[in-house]
Amino acid sequence: MKRKICKQCKLFYTEAQCPNCKSEQLANGFKGRLHILDSKTSHIAKELEITYEGEYAIKLG
Ligand SMILES: [Zn+2]
Repeated sequence: MKRKICKQCKLFYTEAQCPNCKSEQLANGFKGRLHILDSKTSHIAKELEITYEGEYAIKLG
């Protein structure tokens, strides 16, 4: 299944809508990827205010 990128929170997902922010808006492209494995201990997650664990695009477009 092709992965989508959420335009709102930059999460990669395969569901019908973003499981994090429930948006259905898709980004067309991305630059760089970021894995958030544990949002409670990750400093990056805190900095980016990410609470949903998964793979995120660093930049869109
Ligand atoms: Zn989202």
